Amino acid sequence: MSNILPATSEDIKRAADIIREGGLVAFPTETVYGLGADALNPHAVARVFEVKNRPHFDPMIVHINSLACIEQLCLKVDERARRLMERFWPGPLTLVLPKSQVVPDIVTAGLPTVAVRMPSHPVALELIKEAGTPIAAPSANLFGHLSPTSAEHVREQVGSKVDLILDGGKCPVGVESTVISLTEKEALLLRPGGLSLEDTERVIGKVKIPKSNPKRPQSPGQLLRHYSPKTPLRLLTEEIVFENGKRIGFLAFTPPEETLSYEMVEVLSPRGDLREAAANLFSCLHRLDKAGLDIIYAEPVSEGGLGRAIMDRLCRASREYCQRGE
Ligand code: AMP
Ligand code: MG
Repeated sequence: MSNILPATSEDIKRAADIIREGGLVAFPTETVYGLGADALNPHAVARVFEVKNRPHFDPMIVHINSLACIEQLCLKVDERARRLMERFWPGPLTLVLPKSQVVPDIVTAGLPTVAVRMPSHPVALELIKEAGTPIAAPSANLFGHLSPTSAEHVREQVGSKVDLILDGGKCPVGVESTVISLTEKEALLLRPGGLSLEDTERVIGKVKIPKSNPKRPQSPGQLLRHYSPKTPLRLLTEEIVFENGKRIGFLAFTPPEETLSYEMVEVLSPRGDLREAAANLFSCLHRLDKAGLDIIYAEPVSEGGLGRAIMDRLCRASREYCQRGE
């Protein structure tokens, strides 16, 4: 049975119920179709990564329908941000701002900043309003595929894995939103998109375009430095050598049998479930990183489903430590 519904008021209400209950809804925005989940529910957000089949975690855009939400999600909204919002929202402009505690770490892939946008598509706005919660949504395509600009594109790629697809016709803009970071003194263009750079510069002055660097390609996800712990992290592939006085932390997948040798243990999933593990990954890493440990050992997880993205993050965290040569 097809789970595509025309976006009538009634069906939008049904979609909003699904979002509130932790489900996934693909919905139209003016840029591309989004794969939405309750942005404040880490488990629902983990499912988005699962459905997209992403081999890594990317921070997601949080979609809002009123300026009042901004105060809840962001710590600091400066004058530049206010001017851009006033001029271009609702519309294809995403702003990256310092995040508040309310935003789960999995939404931002552990970053201290959050990307927010108020879409102009009436269906998207009504869905967020009815759901009564901000909606985190990447584009509703599979990893490595083109962004969907019609409900049919969504059905072809992720149709069987989402709870509902709201059909709002073709996306009028058809390319992703422009992403601008306002976390530093200089505004930074993280992704060119549906709103021109010139338009944004007329409102806030110079927006810097990061230089392309073969080691750090321009493509959106790779442009950012994802969160990595400052504490050295090692994947637990062989036995740990316990040294006297060394403060060792353990990031376990499921509750370990032996905990006494560790200063601190964080468990990703008491149930041994990869989705739960993904939802907890960044918060567990943050807590371990804050504990003043000498080293963190991380238990590998199986590479199926979300395990791939979890392992990607853990491998990168351990490699970054090696590259710094500490
Ligand atoms: P998509 O998943 O296609 O909607 O794209 C979201 C875009 O926003 C990607 O380019 C992300 O890298 C970017 N983005 C989301 N959150 C952040 C953040 N906290 N900092 C920087 N870029 C972000
Ligand atoms: Mg995308």
